[in-house]
Amino acid sequence: MDATIQSIEQSARADIEKAATAAALEELRITYLGKKGRITDLLKQLGTLDNASRPVMGQKINALRDAVSSAITARKDALAETEFNAQMEKERIDVTLPGRRTVTGKLHILTTVEEEIVSVLNGMGFTPVEGPELEDEHHNFEALNIPSWHPARDSHDSFYVSDDRLLRTHTSPMQIRILEKLKPPLAVIAPGKTARRDAVDSKHSPVFHQLEGFFVDENVTFADLKGCLETFFKRLFGEKTAIRLRPDFFPFVEPGAEISATCVICKGAGCRTCGNTGWIELLGAGMIHPKVFEAVGHDPKRVSGFAFGMGIERIAMIKYGITDIRLFFENDLEFLRQF
Ligand SMILES: [Zn+2]
Repeated sequence: MDATIQSIEQSARADIEKAATAAALEELRITYLGKKGRITDLLKQLGTLDNASRPVMGQKINALRDAVSSAITARKDALAETEFNAQMEKERIDVTLPGRRTVTGKLHILTTVEEEIVSVLNGMGFTPVEGPELEDEHHNFEALNIPSWHPARDSHDSFYVSDDRLLRTHTSPMQIRILEKLKPPLAVIAPGKTARRDAVDSKHSPVFHQLEGFFVDENVTFADLKGCLETFFKRLFGEKTAIRLRPDFFPFVEPGAEISATCVICKGAGCRTCGNTGWIELLGAGMIHPKVFEAVGHDPKRVSGFAFGMGIERIAMIKYGITDIRLFFENDLEFLRQF
């Protein structure tokens, strides 16, 4: 039996040394130490021995069992450590490598300028609203005193999607939509996207942005219009900014005015941007036409108001000295990242 014990120990140690996985080790444990394992078999044979040699052999077999068991445990630990080291090596982080730069986006310059204009007017008591970019002829033209025969429709050569529906050619339809629903006093601004069938050049784009503003109450006068827009431009361009009003025509106001402000480039001294006049034309305005009030069901003898409209691109171009409107829409990041 001594020889068997020795041979089992040798083969067990050799097998354990060769085992490369935890699963292989488990198989070896069953082969040697399991219920029907080789060492367990030996223990069962103890009963066949005589009384004198039984305790001696029992001790030897127990020692063999302990030795095989610890060899398996030791091998298991060694395998786990090797695996752990391999994993660590694979996941090693080189903290000296330079980091990857993430590209952060930013607001488009037109959005920034629009937000700035909205913020100034909001601070003056105007509530911003948004309206549909797809309009019907009633809101875009008729209710604004632009009937189908009106020559102003020529300059509004539009993108129609059906006989009656078109991409709005200005943000003025929001005057109608708000006045139809709400009762004065009303101070509202409506910024947004507009479209006209203009050929693309340095000053024209078929898509552009406007901001419409209007104030309606009882006894609103032209002086209110002037005071409001003067305050607006001073807050937008600085306290020293002055404004100039000259008569102009828009079908939905009477009287109408074209508003210029002190040139932001030369501060009024005269430069190329302002054509040496010291003034820059920035928006159109006027007292809301009685026919507009009639179209939305308000009595023009009881309510009055003023309205103004400006191009966001125009303000951005003047403010940042941009000379070509196409730059806003070409998605040239070299250009857009400057602002
Ligand atoms: Zn100038």
